Amino acid sequence: MKTQFPNNFVFSQSNMQTYLNCRYKFYLRYIQKLTWPAQVTVDDLRFEEDRNTGIRFHQLLHQYFLGFKPELLIQIAENDPDNRISTWFQTFLASQYAQLQGKIESEKTITTCINDRNFIVKYDLLQFKDGQYTIYDWKTSNKVPNREKLMDSIQTRLYPVVLSEAYQNDQPINFIIWEIIAPNAPIVFSFLKQEILNNGRYIKELTDEILFLDNSDFFKTSNTRQCKICEYRSYCNRGTMPATFEELDENGLNEIEDYWITNGYDANLV
Ligand code: SF4
Repeated sequence: MKTQFPNNFVFSQSNMQTYLNCRYKFYLRYIQKLTWPAQVTVDDLRFEEDRNTGIRFHQLLHQYFLGFKPELLIQIAENDPDNRISTWFQTFLASQYAQLQGKIESEKTITTCINDRNFIVKYDLLQFKDGQYTIYDWKTSNKVPNREKLMDSIQTRLYPVVLSEAYQNDQPINFIIWEIIAPNAPIVFSFLKQEILNNGRYIKELTDEILFLDNSDFFKTSNTRQCKICEYRSYCNRGTMPATFEELDENGLNEIEDYWITNGYDANLV
């Protein structure tokens, strides 16, 4: 039977990545909107602490780019209950990213329609300088991201496509991923127009596939590692024990991030 999508369904990095990780999870979460509370890791509290610390760090950078006085922000960072914030903020102030020139837009959300599909993307920072855009993504992971995996991720493919379409931009787009635990090794991508077009085609094919599947085509993943960090695992009879932090790889951390985001906001919009 043909799948009925919610009206005005909005594609995002997280729902498309969920689809690639497990079609059935996508179906439960975004089509059926089934909430199935379960502990995602045995260290949920630790994960939540890390996540909230990351959010506060992002807020500090946002305030910095809005023009708040650095002295005030240093004070806020020093008073933070997690002392990593102060160290991270000092690292940021000493980096080239504290001196960016051109037109700067922090925490910028873009919604756009491409090929009759709605998309939403939230950029940590956009810079427009010398006729070119650069996308910045701040990461506060516990592990240094793998360049090849990032290159293939929906985020890396989708962000330049949405920017290019929304701003009718034909120029190359740079994408810089700055991981705070490896501040001297940013991961830098530079996408030429043709590469952005290729990624646009990939996104179109993927959304075509998702939209035209029958209910029965949303099958369970064969990669049972995904199930360990999935809140639906007891629903699916894929085990009851949550994963440990150590069992999580980079994809796992992204999946948990997705879990927290989608359980905090309208699942259709994230
Ligand atoms: S438990 Fe496994 S099969 Fe079930 S939705 Fe989650 S990832 Fe998919």
